[in-house]
Amino acid sequence: MTDNTSRVLKDLMDEISSTSPMTMGYPVSKGFDFSEVFPFLKYPLNNVGDPFIPSTYTVGSRELEKEVIEFFSRLFRAEEDNWWGYVTNGGSEGNLYGLYLARELYPKAIVYYSEATHYSVQKNLHLLNMPNIAIRSQASGEIDYDDLEKTISINRQMPVIILANIGTTMTEARDDVAKMKTIFKHLAIQHHYIHVDGALSGSYAAFLEPRPAFDFEDGADSIAISGHKFFGSPIPCGMVIAKKNHRDRIARSIDYIGSLDTTISGSRNGHTPLFLWYMISKLGIEGLKQRTMDCLDVAAYAESALKQVEPLVWRNPAALTVNIPKPGEELIKKWQLASGKEWAHIICMPGMQKTQIDDFVKDLELHKAWQCALAG
Ligand SMILES: *Cc1c(COP(=O)(O)O)cnc(C)c1O
Repeated sequence: MTDNTSRVLKDLMDEISSTSPMTMGYPVSKGFDFSEVFPFLKYPLNNVGDPFIPSTYTVGSRELEKEVIEFFSRLFRAEEDNWWGYVTNGGSEGNLYGLYLARELYPKAIVYYSEATHYSVQKNLHLLNMPNIAIRSQASGEIDYDDLEKTISINRQMPVIILANIGTTMTEARDDVAKMKTIFKHLAIQHHYIHVDGALSGSYAAFLEPRPAFDFEDGADSIAISGHKFFGSPIPCGMVIAKKNHRDRIARSIDYIGSLDTTISGSRNGHTPLFLWYMISKLGIEGLKQRTMDCLDVAAYAESALKQVEPLVWRNPAALTVNIPKPGEELIKKWQLASGKEWAHIICMPGMQKTQIDDFVKDLELHKAWQCALAG
């Protein structure tokens, strides 16, 4: 029995450790050492309920969770004393939460989002039963502001909820929240809400120069980010930060847990806030900024090396995602590239080495030479 159990675990470990270095297309980070946090896995940590209201169950990490939320609220330039949030199970839950808050504030609103939006948003809108309209995207993946303005103006008697992308899944395009605010002004829209899906690049957008318009000062009402992408938490997680006055609208007190039921799940992961806290505590703003710059450096390297082999390769400004005309299935599988109909991409996440890029470029070169030979 024991032998078999160990063998299965060892086989799985071998498989994971051999395929992990080949992931290029998905936003996973490598190389940061979290081992100081691992001993906590011995305990049943549970941050049930609202992190800012103590619960009667106290085996958890709420204090550190609050510090994590405070750190990001400041980074995202939230108004003093008007921020709130919690550590979620991922970017999708954060988006669900933002849209839920928006719906509670404006039950009659229409939701607008670009066609480059992550697939989970459609599902969330369906769960929440919110009327919604997809807006055209530009070739870069950024929302088409003319189409947005025209479409809103047709429905201008209705409150407006926009889901803005700070880093689309395929091309890492960033919608401009300030431009959306201008549209509200033009059309005299009084009731509006902007939720920012920053799952991919919300984690480092604040470190970019020029700083993209994406945060509370720019006009966001809530922001969701993922914790297992840029931060590399070994367990999927994320954060949602919202204006506190929005969440006060939905707060309900629950006697059983002695806290407020303001979150989507009841029991909540008490370990994931530790991973996030540990990273911000170890790296601080300067370290996180450096982590961003290192990635951008690798992305610029990848873009220029890949362009030599394939001139159509391109990248959005200050993006870690490098877009490549879709190669054959073999390469997509081998390097775990994310792909759509015509394009594939690699993402230069923390821990990606230039030598890996070199290996990939060589492979792409061989693949092209072979395609040319076949063609004649
Ligand atoms: C990854 C991603 C999501 C979903 O986030 P999860 O953490 O996987 O739930 C949503 N939107 C965008 C743009 C993403 O890149």
